[in-house]
Amino acid sequence: MSVSVELNQITKAFDTTIAVNNVSLTIERGELFFLLGPSGCGKSTLLRVIAGFYRPETGLLHFDDEVMNNVPPHQRNTGMVFQNYALWPHMTVAENIDYGLVLRKLDKSTRKAKIDKVLEMVQMSEFRDRPVNTLSGGQQQRIALARALVIEPSVLLLDEPLSNLDAALRQSLRNEIKEIQKRTNITTIYVTHDQIEAISMADRMAIMKDGVFVQVGTPREIYQFPVDPFVASFVGETNFINGNILEIANEKATIETSIGVLQTESVYHSFTQGQKVSCSIRPEMIHLNGNTSTNSLTAKVETVTYLGRVEEYELKIGDDLKLKALIYEPGTETKQPGETVDISMDPKAIVPLPIDN
Ligand code: ATP
Repeated sequence: MSVSVELNQITKAFDTTIAVNNVSLTIERGELFFLLGPSGCGKSTLLRVIAGFYRPETGLLHFDDEVMNNVPPHQRNTGMVFQNYALWPHMTVAENIDYGLVLRKLDKSTRKAKIDKVLEMVQMSEFRDRPVNTLSGGQQQRIALARALVIEPSVLLLDEPLSNLDAALRQSLRNEIKEIQKRTNITTIYVTHDQIEAISMADRMAIMKDGVFVQVGTPREIYQFPVDPFVASFVGETNFINGNILEIANEKATIETSIGVLQTESVYHSFTQGQKVSCSIRPEMIHLNGNTSTNSLTAKVETVTYLGRVEEYELKIGDDLKLKALIYEPGTETKQPGETVDISMDPKAIVPLPIDN
């Protein structure tokens, strides 16, 4: 039976390093929740606090209504999958999966039935009697997942499970994990520094930096309404143009920048006149040869990279500002480095974000 996971002002420090700093959050039953952030931001530490490997200095951890702070890891009914699989190399697939069932003192026929079922779920039935050291990385990670799932955990914890695998395998396993998670409805907390993984799989995610949550939301909310420049650049690619607010009213603003005045219709933070901002503009929102009267600029093409489905432009405006633009469905004609182009940006595509003054 899946549970909700509640973090209430959790702090975990190692000597003078505060790895997790007073975080609070509720992860709902059955949710696929991601912890996303750069290396060292505290993601794995927080996952280990939830698993029970670390005790928080302060704060309360609940599974549903039960306080878990003093419950040892093996009594929390969590299943865990690590980046390096952590399987016993000389044991067979079935023996690896059986381990947790033996600990739970289940009889042989029940264990066999559960192993068969979970192997089917991860599509590894025919590998049942193979030693795991004869399997590929992707196959081993399926077995690690099966071993975590077979105990029917209340919470499934995944720590960078796909990081050791190649890109094509990562892509297919992402879809499979998501599908299995939805089918089993186990509350799942997934740590990664790969934003594509998080965006493509998460119900919701927390963006972490320096031990705190900078933003929590659905992938769409976080991509479209980032709280600050850190989130805007960590989740997806973006360009920044710094400026000052000249005028502001009704979610519209006029912003003075080094490359001229920009009009925006995407103001969802509260700003005051004169405030410094950083405008985030996604590369796909910059149009070449635009003919709108607002936010039209002249740029010089620095590089063009044709990628089939898209064409990537590095553009320069004035002496200092570089922008990246993505053109979808590129035609037969292209621009050359050194050429001048007219670009335009829809007022809705320019998102002013607060920066420290
Ligand atoms: P990565 O993506 O690189 O795994 P992370 O976001 O998971 O990073 P953590 O491993 O949680 O980050 O580390 C957070 C901070 O706590 C880092 O500064 C790290 O050096 C420190 N830290 C983590 N574990 C320990 C430990 N056992 N002893 C001392 N410091 C630690």
